[in-house]
Amino acid sequence: MNFTNEKPFIAGNWKMFKTVPEAVDMVKKLHEASLGLEKAQFVVIPAYTALSEVSRALQGSPVQIGAQNMHWEDRGAFTGEVAAPMLKDVGCSFVVIGHSERRQLFGETNETVNKKIRAALTHGLVPIMCIGESLEEKEGGNTIPKVQSQITEGLEGLDAEQVRRIIIAYEPLWAIGTGLTATPDQAQEVHRFIRSDLAEKHGNDVASCAIILYGGSVKPENTRSLLREKDINGALVGGASLKADSFAEIAREAIKAYEEK
Ligand code: PEP
Repeated sequence: MNFTNEKPFIAGNWKMFKTVPEAVDMVKKLHEASLGLEKAQFVVIPAYTALSEVSRALQGSPVQIGAQNMHWEDRGAFTGEVAAPMLKDVGCSFVVIGHSERRQLFGETNETVNKKIRAALTHGLVPIMCIGESLEEKEGGNTIPKVQSQITEGLEGLDAEQVRRIIIAYEPLWAIGTGLTATPDQAQEVHRFIRSDLAEKHGNDVASCAIILYGGSVKPENTRSLLREKDINGALVGGASLKADSFAEIAREAIKAYEEK
């Protein structure tokens, strides 16, 4: 799996939206929108039910596909769960791990995040590990300690070679689906901390190559100012990735931001 922070990385998390025909139609529209695919890296993240068909629709395209979650075991009596080999089987290259909705609504912890990341890496999937603080934590001045503990515990026991194959998405909870976005300065401060923490624990080489995404109400109007920041390498987009025109516009703005860096 080749990915780089020399081009913007844009991932669209479609959450629990879109039937199979709707998801396939979206992919067609994205292709028609001529995104400048060679200048960026794109990943679409549909619901499990649409993975297979979307993957088929993406054959021959540089757009890649990821899943929204997975279990850490390869198989077993885990009703309702999906395993890494199953995601590979339907063409996934990426998997979101520890999204705040999973942490808040489905009891995910840093420990389960760590197990899932290990399993994803074992099967050659690139984990997109989500971290971020709540509004209360932000207001209490606890953003950095929160993010640091999520990184430390989420990546516990992994060596530099493994950490190199992980993408981190900083998604402040107060910005997800709320219309509130971190300012470029606020986001950059946390991203810079994340990169320095990676450097301290896993070496400068891992840190300088790391892809660190921002997520939380990213839309066409704020993409460029966020992605112009030194340590922001792309975006994990929820709501605004559900419509082809706004997702395509985010992609165009991301490319412009990178040209201006
Ligand atoms: C997300 O769910 O990862 C997300 C960032 O959502 P939104 O863009 O809608 O805030």
